[in-house]
Amino acid sequence: MLIVKKFGGTSVADKERIFNVANRCIEDYKKGHDVVVVLSAMGKQTDVLLDMANDINPNAPKRELDMLLTTGEQTSVALMAMAMHSLGVPSISLNAFQVAMHTTSVAGNAKLIKIDKERIRHELEQRKIVIVTGFQGISKYDDYTTLGRGGSDTTAVALAATLHADACEIYTDVDGVYTADPRIVEGAKKLDQITYDEMLELASFGAGVLHNRSVEMAKKYGVQLVVRSSLNTTEGTIVKEEVKMEKMLISGVASDKNVARIAVVGLEDQPGVAFKLFRHLANHNVNVDMILQSIGRDNTKDISFTVTEDMADVAVETVERHRSGSLKCQDVKVNKNVSKVSIVGAGMQTNPGVAAQMFEALYDANVNIQQISTSEIRVTVLIDEEDTNKAMNAVHKEFDF
Ligand code: ASP
Ligand code: MG
Repeated sequence: MLIVKKFGGTSVADKERIFNVANRCIEDYKKGHDVVVVLSAMGKQTDVLLDMANDINPNAPKRELDMLLTTGEQTSVALMAMAMHSLGVPSISLNAFQVAMHTTSVAGNAKLIKIDKERIRHELEQRKIVIVTGFQGISKYDDYTTLGRGGSDTTAVALAATLHADACEIYTDVDGVYTADPRIVEGAKKLDQITYDEMLELASFGAGVLHNRSVEMAKKYGVQLVVRSSLNTTEGTIVKEEVKMEKMLISGVASDKNVARIAVVGLEDQPGVAFKLFRHLANHNVNVDMILQSIGRDNTKDISFTVTEDMADVAVETVERHRSGSLKCQDVKVNKNVSKVSIVGAGMQTNPGVAAQMFEALYDANVNIQQISTSEIRVTVLIDEEDTNKAMNAVHKEFDF
């Protein structure tokens, strides 16, 4: 069997944890399996490196940031290989260059294109445990790239798909995927199983447990994932295409505070206005999420939308720049004190009243809804940021997990 095992930063945060991971990998190796290990940087090392960069130059070139950040993962894989050697087990660490993990050239947010198999296969044939840096890649210009924060999960899934692994295990510091963040919601429960689609919605709408692109990739290539803790032997959560029939209506509740709401007030009420607004925003790489257009009055209308907080200023500047030209409007307002709370569940496709039930719980908790968006298996509300935890708890309680 070929097993890909990925360990996050907290799982390799210090010497003791590094040896704990080494031993867990060696256990599989001694059963005769081929073991490929993917690691994140130790503890909060990526944040530490970002702070160092920021201190030297807050506008550091993205290429140099990637050059710096890749050292985090390179440190953890080398130390892991040393730990395994000290335990008498042959192993080798490889970085993105040595494997050859080819990505697009977008520094800080590169996408994997192709992973070469030869070197890893060769090392496995020598009966070594192969330890690979997560999160990083190389561009066609031979520059290091990174896959975006949390990207090691995606490295692991991509490797599992490329190597046709028999198992892909994502180890973290919690026991699996929960119905809500247990740090926020009392009574949050671990799920035994969840579908790719539900996991993707949860990951995209604030559940930090998996990088959303890793789930997308797992679905695309049919890689079954297990999310479990590196600190105990609890079973964990399986992420796959279909889950057992007696499914709950809702699989989870997620929240995301990294949201800003932009309101463009008093736009001319005529064809092409929305097109122009969102074209300008797209041209400035502003990713727009929940969109709301009001019914027109006095030949004007309002359009509001949400963006991530770091893009709020760019969004406002973009609108301001075109106010005297193609985008006449009365006002542009921004509110960064908002958050999104979402419920996700495949069961809502066939059960009416799920949204109403969520809204009732929010009403009972006296939480005001500013905006709503939905997908087939998700309902998201935009609310005051200070209401986030209250809303999470109220909604979670309502669905009685
Ligand atoms: N070390 C990177 C980060 O902190 C990647 C990862 O952990 O997945 O974002
Ligand atoms: Mg992570």
